Amino acid sequence: MSEPLVVLRDVNKHFGDLHVLKDVNLTVGRGEVVILIGPSGSGKSTLCRTINRLETFESGSITIDGKELPEEGKELAALRADVGMVFQSFNLFAHKTILENVTLGPTKVRGMRKAEADRRAMELLERVGVGHQAHKYPAQLSGGQQQRVAIARSLAMDPKVMLFDEPTSALDPEMITEVLDVMVELARSGMTMIVVTHEMGFARKAANRVVFLSDGQVVEEATPEEFFTNPRSERAKDFLGKIL
Ligand code: ADP
Ligand code: MG
Repeated sequence: MSEPLVVLRDVNKHFGDLHVLKDVNLTVGRGEVVILIGPSGSGKSTLCRTINRLETFESGSITIDGKELPEEGKELAALRADVGMVFQSFNLFAHKTILENVTLGPTKVRGMRKAEADRRAMELLERVGVGHQAHKYPAQLSGGQQQRVAIARSLAMDPKVMLFDEPTSALDPEMITEVLDVMVELARSGMTMIVVTHEMGFARKAANRVVFLSDGQVVEEATPEEFFTNPRSERAKDFLGKIL
């Protein structure tokens, strides 16, 4: 593996009595693309949110590029900007244009000048194929286009790692490919990515590793080829039997 970028050691998290992450160990190398897969309720979203410190955890450690995330304050904002996150729901600001959605973070959090932020944002919007929509509002775009804008918005912060939590599961089937194509391009450009998805096509094309989570535990890690054709654990076999 390349140099470790995201390292989780023995991470435990509870919601009240519910033990949702159980001694999770996970190392993602720089430039690596890891698929996080597992049954509904297994803790995938919680794991992503914990990596980004949208959730606290009780024990263990998480480092991004060697740095432990602080609990709060300015340092947290800066470090959190290193971790881009794309959700199932696109979460764009409805009353801002597409361009403004992308420039907001760089100008407010990174202190970038507007002209520079606009230029960068246009490059990113072109890259995800929505440059010609820059002056529209989110509601004027399709779901697939909005999700590509959400990706551009995250990239505008120059993150070290991108987390995707079921980025295509709210999309109509004909829009899934256009979003996955952008993600494949991003993976090939060397971005470090952690992706929660059941899209096997994406996994086969772009992922280095599949991590199977069940009941808050990492049960199995394998290459996509191995995992989908020859899962080792009973739990993975059972899960794949249901989704395939
Ligand atoms: P997944 O994304 O794999 O479907 P989640 O991480 O969303 O799983 O949820 C893992 C478990 O934690 C589930 O049992 C879920 O009901 C529970 N859970 C998630 N978020 C909360 C919360 N904010 N408060 C209490 N329980 C939660
Ligand atoms: Mg989830």
